[in-house]
Amino acid sequence: MEQSVELLGLSKAELISFVENIGEPAYRGRQIFAGLQHRRLRSFEEMSDLPKDLRARLNNLARASSLTIESRYVSLDGTRRYLMKTHDNLPVETVFIPEERRDTICFSSQSGCPLQCTFCLTAQLGLLRSLTPAEIVEQIVIALNDAYGVGEKPPRGTNLVGMGAGEPFLNLDSLLKALRVMADPEGLHIVPNRVTVSTAGVVPKILELANIPDRPHLAISLAAPTDELRNELMPINKKWPLGELLSACKEFEKTLKPSERFTFEYVMLAGVNDSEEHARQLANLLNRHGLKAKVNLIPHNPADPLPYQPSSEETVERFKSILESKAIHTYVRRPRGRDIFAACGQLAARHGTLIEANSIGA
Ligand code: SF4
Repeated sequence: MEQSVELLGLSKAELISFVENIGEPAYRGRQIFAGLQHRRLRSFEEMSDLPKDLRARLNNLARASSLTIESRYVSLDGTRRYLMKTHDNLPVETVFIPEERRDTICFSSQSGCPLQCTFCLTAQLGLLRSLTPAEIVEQIVIALNDAYGVGEKPPRGTNLVGMGAGEPFLNLDSLLKALRVMADPEGLHIVPNRVTVSTAGVVPKILELANIPDRPHLAISLAAPTDELRNELMPINKKWPLGELLSACKEFEKTLKPSERFTFEYVMLAGVNDSEEHARQLANLLNRHGLKAKVNLIPHNPADPLPYQPSSEETVERFKSILESKAIHTYVRRPRGRDIFAACGQLAARHGTLIEANSIGA
């Protein structure tokens, strides 16, 4: 048996076979699953319903947690940002965003990112490595424990967005595994319908997701209405240009269930992609492909040393009204946590005001 089995990334059935393999009865697997996923305990020592000798054996064979919290920042608007390290010392960032009717946790799927979107700070790290299913689940456990106390039931619903560091579709298997584990009603019970995953446009994985029945909502980060501009802002476009990307989106759209959301994200960069001509090009592009998905406009969040500024409110409104005049449903996403560099594209940015470092009891 491997020394470092990450139990947080195992389903209940897998945990049961794990304990059976070490000569324990199946119910111990269910107890451990409840301890990790429902009680959100991050060490075997805290699982007082397990015999001491089993806890000691588990410590030798497996891990209940592997992320350590380096720092935690709290924004004036209540948004919390966590900078963590993996067991092999790589950075992971997670953001908790409280809202009136629900909370949203923005998680990372990779440490760093191999894609080179020019408006994103994470890109500057390059890919350090993809996260394991356990490391994805643990980000949620840490954020919930910090917000509400260890194992306390969140008072509102929890939504997840895979929009932190990394390109989720370059780590799709681990991501889907983490989502299956988190959906268990005896654990975190966050079902795929509460999850949105954003891709820069990994076309084969969009087509793969189209064939998965129990899947998260899909968001596509567009950032430009022409290949010329998108090649510059999101170099992945050279591999999968807009024509191919939007054809895959059309295929995906055909498989949508009524309860599913499908959105395009469009980061607005002053003087770069926010003109009236860009708005018309974007509307024509989506209409040409017969896409009904709505568009979220996201004013860019300034982050040194990136050379971009956010579009003005008037420009965003003008852009929105042009899209709407061409029958495209358009929303403007308000930035959260800008003061602690927790907003989109700001992860890996310089540190904001340190409120409590290394003080999370999660
Ligand atoms: S925007 Fe997303 S896909 Fe692009 S570099 Fe940043 S983290 Fe990677």
